[in-house]
Amino acid sequence: MHNYVIDVPAQAVVPVTTGGVFPVRRIYCVGQNYAKHIAEMGGSLKPEDRKPPFFFQKPSDAIFTGNDLPYPVLTQNLHHEAEMVLAIGTGGKEIGKAEALSHVYGLAVGIDLTRRDRQAEMKAQGRSWEIAKAFDGSAPISKIMPVEDAAKALKDGSISLTVNGETRQSAPLSEMIWSSAEIISVLSTHYELFPGDLIFTGTPEGVGPVVTGDIIVAGVTGLPELNIQIT
Ligand code: MN
Repeated sequence: MHNYVIDVPAQAVVPVTTGGVFPVRRIYCVGQNYAKHIAEMGGSLKPEDRKPPFFFQKPSDAIFTGNDLPYPVLTQNLHHEAEMVLAIGTGGKEIGKAEALSHVYGLAVGIDLTRRDRQAEMKAQGRSWEIAKAFDGSAPISKIMPVEDAAKALKDGSISLTVNGETRQSAPLSEMIWSSAEIISVLSTHYELFPGDLIFTGTPEGVGPVVTGDIIVAGVTGLPELNIQIT
């Protein structure tokens, strides 16, 4: 053990449905994992233009597990992206697709909150759009459900998001271009995975803006709902 010479904020954690908390090591996110979302963002679905999904990260303390989320600074166009989240319980690298799901501790639903105006600016300048994705509070997440209770979500689940009761996003998880097993397998060739890693698996079509006062509810079949209000 080290003797810390300064005090630092506590480890980010996510509550687990069966008790206790899941400590967050890294937050990986998958971009462009649903074809209709690629189309709504202006991307081409022509076979010759198609590129595989890709990864980016948010800092672990971007996790938000409260109810009232302050509207972030530096944006006038905050977008919701509902995503199923994999919580890694067993690490590894170059994990084969066949055994990939055995590395999952549990599942949750999260929102990849995005400063869409900043993302568009950065894209136009050919710069990294980290500022659009990796801000404080940018990763609201539900409780994590251990996979033995949540297996239905992986098999035939669907994902949805409502704003003030109106459905904005709704899609079967089977529309994911990379499945959960493929995501873990590919990601583990880029980075060694460790217990505590979270993977946001991408959003379906229907992303859009939220404003102060909005109540957002995101769900995945069989998992606890995520309920937040923008304040
Ligand atoms: Mn996303």
